[in-house]
Amino acid sequence: TAAPGDSAMSKDEKVAGIRITSPDRLVFPAERITKRMLAEYYADAGPALLVHARDRPLSLIRCPDGIAGECFFQKHGRGSIPDAVPRFTRDGEEWLYLNGVEAMVAAVQMGTIEFHLQGVRRDRPDRPDRLVFDLDPDEGLPFARVREGAVRLRDLLAGLGLDSAPMVTGGKGVHVILRLRRIAPLAAVSAFARTVATLVADRAPEGFTANMSKARRKGRIFIDWQRNGSGATAVAPWSVRARPGAPVAVPVAWDELARLERADGFSLTEARARLDAPDPVAALSAGSLNAAVLDGLEREVHGG
Ligand code: ATP
Ligand code: MN
Ligand code: MN
Repeated sequence: TAAPGDSAMSKDEKVAGIRITSPDRLVFPAERITKRMLAEYYADAGPALLVHARDRPLSLIRCPDGIAGECFFQKHGRGSIPDAVPRFTRDGEEWLYLNGVEAMVAAVQMGTIEFHLQGVRRDRPDRPDRLVFDLDPDEGLPFARVREGAVRLRDLLAGLGLDSAPMVTGGKGVHVILRLRRIAPLAAVSAFARTVATLVADRAPEGFTANMSKARRKGRIFIDWQRNGSGATAVAPWSVRARPGAPVAVPVAWDELARLERADGFSLTEARARLDAPDPVAALSAGSLNAAVLDGLEREVHGG
């Protein structure tokens, strides 16, 4: 593989065994990040990303002409997807998933920048093993408010005996992530997420809302629990974002989150430098939404 910026090799270049066409095309023009550099990032980040992504129904954000061109969200297998990206059939639809680094690089070859994940894996589509609270600040709110919301979630969950870890999205907000044992069905996991988000919002309604209406979100952090419904996705840890600066979604430890001033502060280079360090989301212990947890939540809701 050629080093980034090596223009001597612009034809027939392979990354992780996948042929990359137009390797010198600028995907992020302002940052001078080429398609080759993006493919090489995903070849390096692949193992870390696959820890989270393997066997999950996938959505892609593809920008075939780079972030300056048109981008689109792709959920299903039809159309211009190479065989190197595997797929399976569910509910009469073809869904994409990842089973290795080659599949990720093949997705980059056809213009993918972002990888998004469902909370389920393909062998048990009704039993999530991942739950995400998506904290979305209204325009202009300081990042400290997002951090505060994440910590409120963490503390409530910890009180129920559930471990959680934050990820800065590479955009404006934070995802608070849990690992679950695959016992509760999707509808129960989604209902749990709604109850938790609503409880946090009800305890500090001036700062937070669990209601997606635009009016309610004004001046508040929206705790979006609906990333856990059927077919819903959240951006994968270690995914690059198709946004200015080429920021990366990076899992962080709680004590590191407390020192961060923004969610889009990790560049490709900075993300890559962290790939060998412990990943706090991958290290989560799997919880279970059992009777004790649900009773605990019930007591919190009713002030018991
Ligand atoms: P930010 O921190 O800036 O909010 P984000 O990744 O959380 O970044 P959101 O707009 O809050 O962005 O979206 C949350 C998740 O919802 C995304 O990660 C994505 O998986 C999913 N999503 C967003 N837009 C779409 C869309 N147009 N179609 C389907 N799913 C989407
Ligand atoms: Mn959102
Ligand atoms: Mn968000």
